[in-house]
Amino acid sequence: MTEPESTNTGNTNTGNSDTGSRDAGSTDAARFTRRVEDFRCAHCDRPVRGNGYTNHCPYCLHSKHVDINPGDRAANCGGLMAPVAAGIERDKYFVVQQCERCGHLRRNKTVAADDRAVILGYFGRPIPSRR
Ligand SMILES: [Zn+2]
Ligand SMILES: [Zn+2]
Repeated sequence: MTEPESTNTGNTNTGNSDTGSRDAGSTDAARFTRRVEDFRCAHCDRPVRGNGYTNHCPYCLHSKHVDINPGDRAANCGGLMAPVAAGIERDKYFVVQQCERCGHLRRNKTVAADDRAVILGYFGRPIPSRR
C-alpha cells in the first residue's frame, strides 16, 4: 500500500464541464449600457426619469449645474440651477436657469413632460443678462 503520490492525476472528467453553462450567451445583452440616468430632483425631491433629452426636473424645472456648454469652466460646480424666468420663442417654451452657487445662466429648452403651469409661472420675470 505504498503508492507514489504522483499517480493521482484524475483529471479525466473534462468532457462534462460545460453542462452548467447553458445560458452563457445571454450575458452579452447585459453589456449594453444605457446613458440615460434617473435621478432624484435636488429641489423637490421627486424621482425624475431620465430620457436622454432633458436633465432638469419636469415638476419644478430645477437641475444640477453639471451639464453645461463645452468649454465652460464651471463644469463640476454641482450647484442647483433654479428657474428665474421663462419665455416663448418660435412656439417653444424656454426656461432661464441660474446656478445658485456660481451664478451661471443657462437658457433651457423645455420638453413635453415639463409642467406647463410651472413654466407659465415664470413668464414675465426679468431675464437676467449674462455678465
Ligand atoms: Zn424638482
Ligand atoms: Zn454653478
